[in-house]
Amino acid sequence: MSYPESVLRVALPVPLPRLFDYLPSPDGPPAQVGSRVRVPFGSRSLIGVVAAIGAPDPAFAADLRTAEAVLDAQPLLEGELLESLRWLARYTHAPPGEVFSTALPAALRRGEPLPDTHAWAWRLTPEGIVEQPRLRGRPRELAERLLAGLADEDLLDAQLDDWRPAARALLKRGLAERVAVPASQAAPVPQPGPAANEEQAAALEALRAGSGFTAWLLDGVTGSGKTEVYLQAIADCLARGRQALVLVPEIGLTPQVLTRFRRRLGMPVHALHSGLTDPERARVWAAAGRGEARVIVGTRSAVFVPLPDAGLIVIDEEHDGSYKQQDGIRYHARDFALVRGKALDVPVILGSATPSLETLHNAEAGRYGHLRLRRRAGDAQAPTVRVLDVRKRPLEAGLSPELLRGIRAALDAGGQVLVFKNRRGYAPVLLCHDCGWSAHCKRCSTPLRASPMTVHGGGRRLQCHHCGARQTPPPACPDCAGLALQPQGVGTERLEELLAERFGDVPVMRIDSASTRRKDALEKRFAELGDRAGILVGTQMLAKGHDLPNLTLVAVVGIDEGLFSADFRAGEKLAQLLIQVAGRAGRAEKAGEVLLQTHHPDHPLLQTLIHGGYHAFAETELALREAAGFPPYAHLALLRAEAQHIETPMQFLHAAKAALQPHAAVRPPRGAAPEGLALDGPVPAPMPRRAGMHRAQLLLTAPTRRALHAALDAALPSIHALPEARKTRWSLDVDPVDL
Ligand code: ADP
Ligand code: ZN
Ligand code: ZN
Repeated sequence: MSYPESVLRVALPVPLPRLFDYLPSPDGPPAQVGSRVRVPFGSRSLIGVVAAIGAPDPAFAADLRTAEAVLDAQPLLEGELLESLRWLARYTHAPPGEVFSTALPAALRRGEPLPDTHAWAWRLTPEGIVEQPRLRGRPRELAERLLAGLADEDLLDAQLDDWRPAARALLKRGLAERVAVPASQAAPVPQPGPAANEEQAAALEALRAGSGFTAWLLDGVTGSGKTEVYLQAIADCLARGRQALVLVPEIGLTPQVLTRFRRRLGMPVHALHSGLTDPERARVWAAAGRGEARVIVGTRSAVFVPLPDAGLIVIDEEHDGSYKQQDGIRYHARDFALVRGKALDVPVILGSATPSLETLHNAEAGRYGHLRLRRRAGDAQAPTVRVLDVRKRPLEAGLSPELLRGIRAALDAGGQVLVFKNRRGYAPVLLCHDCGWSAHCKRCSTPLRASPMTVHGGGRRLQCHHCGARQTPPPACPDCAGLALQPQGVGTERLEELLAERFGDVPVMRIDSASTRRKDALEKRFAELGDRAGILVGTQMLAKGHDLPNLTLVAVVGIDEGLFSADFRAGEKLAQLLIQVAGRAGRAEKAGEVLLQTHHPDHPLLQTLIHGGYHAFAETELALREAAGFPPYAHLALLRAEAQHIETPMQFLHAAKAALQPHAAVRPPRGAAPEGLALDGPVPAPMPRRAGMHRAQLLLTAPTRRALHAALDAALPSIHALPEARKTRWSLDVDPVDL
């Protein structure tokens, strides 16, 4: 049989980790590596990206089909971005087609053409020029600005508050019109910021002295002026004629942040986030790829924009959980940004008041430059922190009398109160309210990871999350013989009800992701409250973002779950959260106070954090991780599976474990000692049921990345081929953050 010499090797968004070969289509532009093509796949037609052009895979060459159409005359993915995405596919062990598809904005994924990137501008009509002197207020200001000539929307954003309603009013009266213009290439007109203080100046000097790729940890307490350092570094980058990419956490990209960037940099800033429409997202992506967008500020997926003139990458709040994609391709935007920074040979700044332990470890090992800002930049003082022991105290919706009194006092003084409830979607733990004892598996608990027995079956059964051991709940507390054993956890709705009841004289607002899904909803709600005394109730959403100058008390409840969790990162996450929420109190002249309510006032995590600060906590925690062999001293991957019947995911994971077993000791080159791969599980997932599905997981731990990837490379083909793999929904998560 004769095979064609050259075929299109296409990466398709299907869960098979291979390329698919097609004969080039006879008409249309020739396909190039990085172009999108439309191809027949089974009875469907799919959009894929040409990953290579060359000899077909002999295993499939017998019945090649022909590509239907080439969608891009010029490659859509090329150069550094294409190579970095190939790396990501290898690292996540994911099909390259799914990685490419994740990296593209939805409109391009669907096969739409790369959009025009012309900008929109406004000008006065002849009537507008005549009418202009008779206008009032904001329309008058806008008209005056437009008298000088055509004005780009991006520039108006940077120059005039609230111009859009005024523009609409002028448009309606036929006084102004909106026209398409070539994308703005205006030179920046930066507005000066505050003069850098000593620590900021030292950080900037270090950044300016560097060249090419360096990872920098900008380790600065809340309000220490990290953003000012980013802005200066970006201004330097723009002055060198380069592009800057800034990643911010999902809840960090507020209109205030964008306005601050536009004003200070004096040029258009392209925002990329989930609030945009598909065409808007595709436009920003295209503008970045054409080098027209010079500053791109976006959330997680902005890490995929093409950067032909890259000069700098900034990752704000680098420890933030929203940088990790939790489904589909499970990439970490911070880690991928570092890979891209290295490939692009540009500096990457990781900023945080509470750096992740991975990043701190890298900085301490000298792999990252370590820049520190130890003091708040303005006049604000650090808040005082008090721990409230709630053992044996009568609780109302989980709140102690002392906490309620603290809230009353803060409100009476005219201040605002944030009641912060730590909540994670885990099954509840059994807790003794008299002494703080909680049920833990004796076999699995270590200082780093207390393996809680979680409450199942409506309270009739306790189960160890780690080894799966089961027992019935004790009738009385084994430590104090008290009868106050109860599953822990009160929802924010119940909290809100109680607070509204008890503090009827002030507004009580619940802020959670459900009540603030819409764009800018959070800002609107803060504006509603203004400076009045009042209470905000919420979860993680409230830990950062908007400045509330009148916030004087932060009350934190529900932290005990985080102190004794099966997730070895729970301590780190809790410490970060506590520092971040505490950073919300007393941002302006008013002193702030933090009340921490707990059954474990003497817990070492709380004590170290309160008396030594985040870095003391981090040092202790890193030592525990090293002793126990957890990241960053070991490397993890998690196989997850779910199905309607519990046996199915367990059978699959047992079979996968068997496939991995032979690779559990991988011999590295040069005859070094074998490196062990540990396999833990399978066990039920922390949330064992979701949406009617039973979920289970298998954890892989290896001493080096190489050992982990070698085992996965060797075993995954047979795992994909398992008959059980077709009966369950399964996924692999390399470097999981939620265990
Ligand atoms: P961070 O990003 O570390 O939270 P910001 O850069 O937002 O800190 O700065 C916090 C506040 O301090 C802002 O209001 C900012 O304008 C102000 N600020 C920052 N640097 C200086 C400085 N060198 N002098 C005076 N004020 C500053
Ligand atoms: Zn007890
Ligand atoms: Zn156990």
